[in-house]
Amino acid sequence: MVVSPGAAPARTPLRVAVIGAGMAGILAAIELRRRGVECVVFEKADRVGGTWRENTYPGLSCDVPAHSYTYTFARNPDWSRWYADGAEIQRYFERVADEHGVLALVRFGDEVTGLEFVDGGWNLRTASGHADRFEAVIAATGVLHHPNVARLDGIDTFAGSSFHSARWDHDVPLDGRRVGVIGTGSTAVQITSALVPRVERFHLFQRTAQWVYPSPNPAYSDDERAAFRADPEAYERFVQKLRISMIERVVSAVTEVDSPQHAEVERLCREHLATVRDPDLRRRLTPTYRAMCKRLVVSGDFYEAIQQPHAHLVTDPITRVEPAGVRTADGTLHELDVLVLATGFRADRFIRPTTVVGRDGVDLDDVWATSPVAYLSVTVPEFPNFFMLNGPNGPVGNFSLIEVAERQLAYAMQLIDGLVRGDYREVSPTHEAMLRFEQERCAAAEHTVWVTGCDSWYLDARGVPASWTFTHARFVEEMSAPKFADFVIR
Ligand code: NAP
Repeated sequence: MVVSPGAAPARTPLRVAVIGAGMAGILAAIELRRRGVECVVFEKADRVGGTWRENTYPGLSCDVPAHSYTYTFARNPDWSRWYADGAEIQRYFERVADEHGVLALVRFGDEVTGLEFVDGGWNLRTASGHADRFEAVIAATGVLHHPNVARLDGIDTFAGSSFHSARWDHDVPLDGRRVGVIGTGSTAVQITSALVPRVERFHLFQRTAQWVYPSPNPAYSDDERAAFRADPEAYERFVQKLRISMIERVVSAVTEVDSPQHAEVERLCREHLATVRDPDLRRRLTPTYRAMCKRLVVSGDFYEAIQQPHAHLVTDPITRVEPAGVRTADGTLHELDVLVLATGFRADRFIRPTTVVGRDGVDLDDVWATSPVAYLSVTVPEFPNFFMLNGPNGPVGNFSLIEVAERQLAYAMQLIDGLVRGDYREVSPTHEAMLRFEQERCAAAEHTVWVTGCDSWYLDARGVPASWTFTHARFVEEMSAPKFADFVIR
């Protein structure tokens, strides 16, 4: 459909609700504010930061190079290391939100519980009973947000301290104690590297071995930081080099499993694994599936940590948790003071459990009953003026989610611009566009590494990859401009 600017009657100024004040919500608020669009950001916690506020486990860092994990409009020449740690990233988001006037737009400490599209607008309600109405909603609620707390037999009987990695209890002492960690994903590996030097005994309970991509984490010198500050163009060239190298090495390796890029990632992981000295430990650490089938773990020090004499890789299955520790199938009781569940997240939740009811009473929970879907990852049929950042079927992996969110926001803003101008009052994708996208996405999934024989959070309940299965170039192209023919516009 061709939109004719100015054809629609004048309307009251647009108000947009942004749900979540993490990386993507801060971004959306800054852009809306820059364009003079009124917005309210709803944040259930008392601080901005999203995943970097919630995750505070020892060893937390972002395994995407720091200069890539930075907004394009708020470059940071002062990153201290190649991979910044969680606290430094949290400070960065707090500073950017403050400097761009976002904090004043946030309603902290109140969770959005319901959104309902009625008479051309979204009625919003919160846990505290607050109600408001908006013409559009941007859901920036994160991908890996709801902890998957492993339900282990006997976990409630454990006499020590136990918590999920995203709910770290900093009152629990760790130094000189016996600590167990369940899981071998990126989180568990970072915790292992950080805790092994501090504790008396360390047990890593592994259900599935992981490929570990070797990467050191050098600090930037004062001179290097000064050079970034002095020459923004050199900084920009550095960022672009990083970006292109990540896309060429990592993104292509995932979407084309038979590519030379994939072979190279696997080769580097194998070489890294070969540094494990004890053949039995090396064998137990060797995965039985293709590299990157699960999200690639990046670490330069995990293998050294797990080879320490007081570190134990436990590969016998867990049978139950007892007051004194964890019992495994071989009958051994691994005695522990602290048990950490680094057991991941429920990657199919997105904005849920918030109830989202679209046109004619359609409930998002029903639409997503089999698997969460979104047209080009941003919009959903029958949910007008509802936009998601880092929503279902988007690119998630070993590269910067900030770049993903910035491109998705630029796309959504082009649809929101029409609302602001009064060109139309409602915009949502057609069912045909959604179906076509989903069919193409599932067909493209057959070439990806995610379907080569492992279990991971990339796969939905049907075993189909839930993420972007096309090339990065296609993502950039699709996000450059909405195809209005694919939208119902009223
Ligand atoms: P994850 O990758 O989903 O790993 C969860 C681990 O827990 C797996 O090893 C899993 O084993 C194990 N597990 C789950 N339930 C279990 C049970 N009942 N018994 C025994 N083991 C169980 O979770 P994550 O490590 O928290 O990472 C999630 C994602 O967060 C990452 O993939 C990444 O995208 C992101 N992340 C990023 C960074 C970063 O630096 N950018 C850091 C941390 C996390 P199986 O493999 O056998 O299922």
